[in-house]
Amino acid sequence: MSSPAFSFTTVGQIHVEWGGAARLGDLLGGWFSARNILLVTDRGLHKAGVLEPAKASLAAAGFAVTVFDAVVADPPEQVLLECVAQGREAGAGIVIGLGGGSSMDVAKLAAVMLVSEQPLAELYGIGRVEGPRLPLVQVPTTAGTGSEVTNITILTRPDHSKMGVVAEQLYADRVLLDAELTIGLPPLHTAATGIDAMVHAIEAYTSKHRKNPLSDAAAREALRLLSSNLVAACRHGADRNAREAMLIGAMLAGQAFANAPVAAVHALAYPLGGRYHIPHGLSNALMLQPVLEFNMKAAAPLYAELADPVGAEVSREADVETKAKAFVQRLITLMNESGAPRRLRDSGVAEEMLPQLAADAMLQTRLLGNNPVDVTESDALALYRAAF
Ligand SMILES: [Zn+2]
Repeated sequence: MSSPAFSFTTVGQIHVEWGGAARLGDLLGGWFSARNILLVTDRGLHKAGVLEPAKASLAAAGFAVTVFDAVVADPPEQVLLECVAQGREAGAGIVIGLGGGSSMDVAKLAAVMLVSEQPLAELYGIGRVEGPRLPLVQVPTTAGTGSEVTNITILTRPDHSKMGVVAEQLYADRVLLDAELTIGLPPLHTAATGIDAMVHAIEAYTSKHRKNPLSDAAAREALRLLSSNLVAACRHGADRNAREAMLIGAMLAGQAFANAPVAAVHALAYPLGGRYHIPHGLSNALMLQPVLEFNMKAAAPLYAELADPVGAEVSREADVETKAKAFVQRLITLMNESGAPRRLRDSGVAEEMLPQLAADAMLQTRLLGNNPVDVTESDALALYRAAF
């Protein structure tokens, strides 16, 4: 049997080292010749001292570091423009994103805009970025978004709509995975971002488009690592093995969905972010179970294949339906044990808003088109009701 042609794209190098942020200067010195760094992060990490080992190491290696720490969740366009202005003033020659998905997203486009004449409005869409960017390094501090290995930046426009830039140039040159940086992540954040990473792997594995043997391999290994370490990372935040496994698992899930895109869980999660500012990870965690059950009619054979990677208790000889159900049950158990909120009503969502959320979700046509089962507006409403 011949398989269809496919491409798989990821970043050039991924360096994994516990405590590696404290050696960032040495690592960078071998990678790039520029000396002026723009470090893109958020104020919470800056105040908590999370940047200090990296900053000290960069200074010792002779780099001049300008910190831009005004990144916020769901970053507005204005934040990116301020970041670019600060980088330009500092004469930045290297951009480092150090933080969660929002910081890394802003770093990607800052690296482009610091050397580009294209206005931001022209960059939105797929493949619109022209020309090169500055050297770009990503250092995640959560095991969740996978943004360090994706080529997408999502920004919030002045009218509160979300717009995405998708371009080859947004893949970083280098990624540093230092799980020590994730030690301080509180249990609820660890749970929500970890479940979001599992959603990335599941939705990539069942995606209608561009699913391929490499994205499948990444998704399976992501699920193996994430499912066997999520609860330990939530309960024992300083568990080094669990934190390292989660960070690598989230990165693998990012590689999977950068190549085989996510679907209905994300489509239904975005309106929760837009209307209620529920964080990305939590909104996906809230919608996972209803969508898994809804997709069962088409995705059961693929779910059955994932039963083993997630450690579902089911015989290897069991039939597809039994294995698929065991897969879903295992995820429900994991979510319950993680301590993440499970109901929309517990996250501030009002029941009378559900029809509005369903209407909003219908606008996510790009994501809904990847779902194994078609989702109508009444389906979306039923899914929100199931999650309520
Ligand atoms: Zn996500």
